Amino acid sequence: MKLSLGTEQITPCRIFCVGMNYVEHIRELKNEIPASPVIFMKPATSLVPSGGSVVFPSHGTELHYETEVVVLIGREGRPQTPQEARAAIGGLSLGLDMTLRDVQQALRPTGKPWELCKAFENSAPVGDFVPLTPSLDLASLPFTGAVNGVVRQQGNTSDLVFSISTLIQYLAGIWTLRPGDLIYTGTPVGVGPVKKGDRLAVEAPWCGRFEWLIA
Ligand code: MG
Repeated sequence: MKLSLGTEQITPCRIFCVGMNYVEHIRELKNEIPASPVIFMKPATSLVPSGGSVVFPSHGTELHYETEVVVLIGREGRPQTPQEARAAIGGLSLGLDMTLRDVQQALRPTGKPWELCKAFENSAPVGDFVPLTPSLDLASLPFTGAVNGVVRQQGNTSDLVFSISTLIQYLAGIWTLRPGDLIYTGTPVGVGPVKKGDRLAVEAPWCGRFEWLIA
């Protein structure tokens, strides 16, 4: 799929994801607050545009939604200051870091990689992007996630352990960021399971509302 940013259609590059980045969510999964960002990746082929379907994977049983602010990188570079980090952003949206929780809980004690629980087909629903206007405060972006019309997650980037600016600088210390790169910035408390037929919706005043069906 292409990413929508206003009237532009952008080819996605890589999907960086951040785990354990909201304290209350770390507590609900009984994990420790990490000393540095927990990074994993999904293939760009796992993206699902708003209005699409997430096919329930056959290799797990407990499929969880994780509502997250998603950052679209707009220019190539290795930003190393908050100002450079903000300038690297091409757009913002909301997405879902779909997770097979039962598979993850089985992988965790063995220290095996997370691809099977995080990077499966359709695991990265993402909404349309809005440009980063001067009035948008990256450290104060509210958002919600709902299942079948009932709000299950209410987040705000003010509660991030590692801020959006910090994440961009951290990633840029390891990878050269490229246009079309996405960063899923972590999920707040309130994750939970979905089943076939459920409708997931993410919403924020700064980007609008996006919806997916579990098929
Ligand atoms: Mg997540």
